[in-house]
Amino acid sequence: MTERLYYKDSHMSEFSARVLSACEEDGKFAVTLDKTAFFPEGGGQSSDTGFIDGVRVYDVQIRDGVIYHYTEKPLENGKEVTGIIDFDRRFRNMQNHSGEHIISGIVHRLYGFENVGFHLGDEMTVDFDGELTRKQLDEIETLANRAVYENLPVRAYFPGKDELSSLCYRSKKEISEELRIVEIEGVDVCACCAPHVNYTGEIGIIKILDFFKNKGGVRLFVKCGEDALNDYRDKYKNTLEISNLLSVKQFEVSAATQRLNEQLSAQKAEISVLKKRLVEEKALNFNGKESKTAVFEDGLDIKELQLYADALYKRNGGIRGVFSGNDENGYSFAICGVEAELDEFFGKFKAALPVRGGGRNGIVQGTVKANPQEIEKLF
Ligand SMILES: [Zn+2]
Repeated sequence: MTERLYYKDSHMSEFSARVLSACEEDGKFAVTLDKTAFFPEGGGQSSDTGFIDGVRVYDVQIRDGVIYHYTEKPLENGKEVTGIIDFDRRFRNMQNHSGEHIISGIVHRLYGFENVGFHLGDEMTVDFDGELTRKQLDEIETLANRAVYENLPVRAYFPGKDELSSLCYRSKKEISEELRIVEIEGVDVCACCAPHVNYTGEIGIIKILDFFKNKGGVRLFVKCGEDALNDYRDKYKNTLEISNLLSVKQFEVSAATQRLNEQLSAQKAEISVLKKRLVEEKALNFNGKESKTAVFEDGLDIKELQLYADALYKRNGGIRGVFSGNDENGYSFAICGVEAELDEFFGKFKAALPVRGGGRNGIVQGTVKANPQEIEKLF
């Protein structure tokens, strides 16, 4: 079994060790050491990364108590080596994981809900087996941050059998050969194998972002420490840009956007009325003498095409087609006429050009990939 240095000191970023085995499996180089500060993937948390003697360690796994470091190049068996872990990544994981313990401890104390799922990769999610509202989550968040302000000690230890029997702790049902307890004074006691901060003050801000109902409980998206700071920075920048675009104060962007949406809906309705009036006007002034005509008009949607073709047909009879689009992407169309006559014409139209569409009761619609000359020729 590999001696786990991160159990004794979660802030150790550099260590010396001896290579016990270095082998290649499935094209990957796996290295085991007599001791390591690298945390292997486990309990929902991704592994540490770093370097062993300058060779990159990109993944760390544990099997039967032995920790396997996956490296980009082979290492020499028996060699004394220096390991350096990516401490920014480790510290970020500790800030988030310790923050999660505080939230889970508070949820357990206030509501009796268990943490039934935990994931810490690019983002952190925490699942509870009972439902919580945004208001309750806001209260939990406030209490969690107060636990940070108090800068409480975080203690990780292996209790003896007697101590364990009298200890009340949360357990995430992790199967571990030896039960390790992580205790945040007055806030939480939990079985956990991961490295944690020494004092809650190291965590920084604890922010519960989105949440949704999940399998009778809730899933929370949480960011702590520098992740929360970066998130705030991005969102602040975004809000600032929106407030400048809308020319309102930052806390008024939501109300201003709502007003903008209402204006947009009103304008869309107005445009729709105007377009309807426009096609009716155009139909009124139409003076095509032929019995079959194709009209081309920019910017009409299918409803407006139908309206226009129908108005032309009602005033002039015959076969009346209206097309909107361009040569590159093709044209949307609506064609109106007496049913039997229209069906016969549309049959020929489809046979001659790449047409998609159909219809009945004296109106057909669809799209055609052709230029206006080719279309007009058929009419
Ligand atoms: Zn944990």
